Amino acid sequence: MNAIDSLHQRLAGVVGAANVRHDSGALLSYARDATPLQRGNPDLIVFPHSTDEVAAVLRIADEARVPVIPRGAGTNLSGGTVAVNGGIVLALTRMNRLLEVDEGDLVAVCQPGVRTIELEDAASAKGLLFPPDPGSHTTSTLGGNVAECSGGLRALKYGVMRDYVLWVEAVLPGGVVIRSGGRLVKDVAGYDLRRLLCGSEGTLAVMTELTLRLVPAPACSGTGMAYFAELSDAARAVSRVLSSGVLPVTLEFLDDVCIDAVEEYAQIGLNRTAGALLIFGQDGDQPTVDHDLTRIARSCEAEGARNVHIASSPEEAGELLQARRAVLPSLSRLGGLTILEDATVPRSRIAEMVDHIQAVARRHRLKIGTFGHAGDGNLHPTAVLDPADEDAVRRAELAFEEIFAKAIELHGSITGEHGVGIVKLAFLERQLGPDHVALLRRIKTAFDPHGILNPGKLGS
Ligand SMILES: Cc1cc2nc3c(=O)[nH]c(=O)nc-3n(C[C@H](O)[C@H](O)[C@H](O)COP(=O)(O)OP(=O)(O)OC[C@H]3O[C@@H](n4cnc5c(N)ncnc54)[C@H](O)[C@@H]3O)c2cc1C
Repeated sequence: MNAIDSLHQRLAGVVGAANVRHDSGALLSYARDATPLQRGNPDLIVFPHSTDEVAAVLRIADEARVPVIPRGAGTNLSGGTVAVNGGIVLALTRMNRLLEVDEGDLVAVCQPGVRTIELEDAASAKGLLFPPDPGSHTTSTLGGNVAECSGGLRALKYGVMRDYVLWVEAVLPGGVVIRSGGRLVKDVAGYDLRRLLCGSEGTLAVMTELTLRLVPAPACSGTGMAYFAELSDAARAVSRVLSSGVLPVTLEFLDDVCIDAVEEYAQIGLNRTAGALLIFGQDGDQPTVDHDLTRIARSCEAEGARNVHIASSPEEAGELLQARRAVLPSLSRLGGLTILEDATVPRSRIAEMVDHIQAVARRHRLKIGTFGHAGDGNLHPTAVLDPADEDAVRRAELAFEEIFAKAIELHGSITGEHGVGIVKLAFLERQLGPDHVALLRRIKTAFDPHGILNPGKLGS
């Protein structure tokens, strides 16, 4: 019996034979996640059902020094669940119980495999809101959201995933279970491990239960849009809005490439001659929403917006937001390969960054549309190309290297929400510096002395 067969047998003894897969169909399906151009072949796929089973799997893997790659829905865009050194993909999708939604403490308790939208729906049924809303929310899992520290369209006002994690149960390599945090507003007992696990990308521990903060649902919401001749005008409008004392729930932008692609695809009446489009939104009670939307509109006009429009009904507001939601599918139609990237700059540098992206695209003869969370300074330059054109793929890699270098130069970040994974590991030291990266490695070793958790990623 070879090493993988004997590992298979031991793991089947823990989770049941039906929950360990190594048939070619499963190995192929779990060789990739949502990240283009990245793949790695796992040896086994294991589907645990409880914390005890996760602990037993990690004990066996640690003894055998076999890599373990935790995985939720596999929607990440940084190669975070690609098995670069083979090993076990630990798929947490069977741990999908929503255990409690408590209106008194404003918390939800769930296993990591619960889909984001299931918690949103359960909270909404009780008049509550779970604000983090990544674009992948119908598919992605809460465990994956915490491990990536995901953001979404509401992050400007409500924050990102780390702002909603109150308590975490997690299993360390070797099988030790730790619990950090509580249903508390204040707690400073010890290092804040639950925060450390936010954005740890499956490299420190496997999260097995989460207690997440909810907020009362706002009574209503409203949406508007403003066209600008130049992206620099839209960027100035963002600064003016945010310094006016209004904190919008949504402040998104599309450049001219994205406006054109969305209109071509969705035909919703966008103005294709505009250089940029801002989509803004507010929630709260009706007078606050009306007041804030008017102030945002005035700020846009003061920076030269050509045309500002506020939706007059929830249906119309939904249509305006449709323009933002349609960007990715619209761009994807333009080429067989869509590389959606992620970089953040200080808000005051958005226009400079987008100018740079457009210059890089021209120089490398690439089609790159940029959209993103303007209020957060979080941009998604997205290249569309023919996957069979190897030269174009190489040019796209060079273009993104230049884009990340510029983000660092502008005191920004190589990733605002999609994570480092394998695709940005080479850029991490450029942003953080060698001493910082060395400290990350020492933290990794403290959690995972044998380096079995998601090797080849953060901390490697
Ligand atoms: C169309 C589309 C839109 C998107 N929109 C957004 C967006 O608006 N905002 C945003 O931030 N991201 C977005 N993403 C990226 C992605 O959806 C998020 O990163 C999401 O949180 C990943 O969740 P997942 O369940 O798919 O995790 P996976 O992809 O399975 O895993 C992600 C990482 O988490 C680790 N992990 C998973 N579960 C656990 C666990 N229980 N314990 C420890 N580690 C674990 C994995 O090892 C991996 O490193 C989008 C992706 C797509 C495809």
